Amino acid sequence: MRIFVTGGAGFIGALAVWRLLDLGHDVCVVDNLSVGHQAAVDRAAHLAGKSVEFYPCDVRQTGQMIEIMQSFHPEAVMHFAGLKSVAESVSSPERYYENNVQGSLSLIQAMQQCQVHRLVFSSSATVYGASGTPPFSEQAELGPVNPYGRSKWMVELMMRDVCAAHTDFTGVILRYFNPVGAHPSGQIGEWVQGSPNNLVPYVMGVLQGRFDRVRVFGSDYPTPDGSGVRDYIHVLDLIEGHVAALGLPAGLSVFNLGTGRGYSVHEVIQTMQSVSGRTIPFDVVDRRPGDVAISIADPGCAERLLCWKAQRDLTEMCRDVWNFAKCSPRGYE
Ligand code: NAD
Ligand code: UDP
Repeated sequence: MRIFVTGGAGFIGALAVWRLLDLGHDVCVVDNLSVGHQAAVDRAAHLAGKSVEFYPCDVRQTGQMIEIMQSFHPEAVMHFAGLKSVAESVSSPERYYENNVQGSLSLIQAMQQCQVHRLVFSSSATVYGASGTPPFSEQAELGPVNPYGRSKWMVELMMRDVCAAHTDFTGVILRYFNPVGAHPSGQIGEWVQGSPNNLVPYVMGVLQGRFDRVRVFGSDYPTPDGSGVRDYIHVLDLIEGHVAALGLPAGLSVFNLGTGRGYSVHEVIQTMQSVSGRTIPFDVVDRRPGDVAISIADPGCAERLLCWKAQRDLTEMCRDVWNFAKCSPRGYE
């Protein structure tokens, strides 16, 4: 297929570009490079032994999106472009609504103009909020508790309306749980400038000597060791979910992409210690505001309807992250 990838210079997008090229698809990438790196796209193409079209553009520029689509003629769009920091979304909500919501609307408008009828969207488990009881099925009540999660929810609602109005449109909402991992070559992974908010990139920074110690947020959650529990999923498993989504019929589909199994912060630190053979110093501190105790997917719907199931375990995720830390110590420089 001919696949238009937004945000293809970022962590998940670049790995998707690699996998799509590897499978023989033609890929066109659009990324404004606000976070991502062109070198990630170059590495993806090099690893696949293929070439890729790359445009350093913003998805909010509808006219440019139309021009690129008119020349590339995509059959599907994978929409990874977006901002993803919960903390930043609280301090700058306007930026998140403009980038994530307006950006998605602009993309859908360009797709309509160019007769492109298939959209796979990166949503997040954040849309479930704090009210329900894990594991979350797709039918669980939604109620995101921060502007980032609400921006994802708004795009989900927009896609629901677009699919209702245009019966030839295929909209696939993929709610990611906690993607971690890297390409096994160590060439493509998650590289965060400055201090990462997410646990695994932070632990990687400690292993690289960029930070002194991990702060474990909370010791009194109702979990076996008192720290937060998350459903970590290898990013390559996540991408297989996108590949499976390319075959869905018209209409709206919503899937959780998770493993169905949760790990605590201490379990992640222990696994990173064992794959790296190094000690990871940590301090237990207060809970981080806005964190839920447990977030775990019910992946049953994706297993039944997408015929997709995550294959890789936490050790493999941590091993690939450590390999990326060693092979690409300065990220994409
Ligand atoms: P990332 O920040 O590494 O990649 C996002 C990419 O989008 C970056 O390369 C950035 O430059 C680009 N971008 C941002 N705004 C853009 C715009 N307006 N126009 C063009 N390009 C733009 O993030 P990621 O981890 O690869 O996440 C990809 C998607 O998955 C995001 O939409 C994110 O919200 C979603 N998601 C990520 C996680 C996670 O933990 N990584 C979890 C759930 C959902
Ligand atoms: N966490 C932590 N220290 C950090 C970053 C995160 O203890 O420096 C915890 C956090 O409280 C949560 C888990 O690790 O329980 C995963 O956090 P992350 O930000 O990676 O994902 P999210 O909270 O968005 O699911």
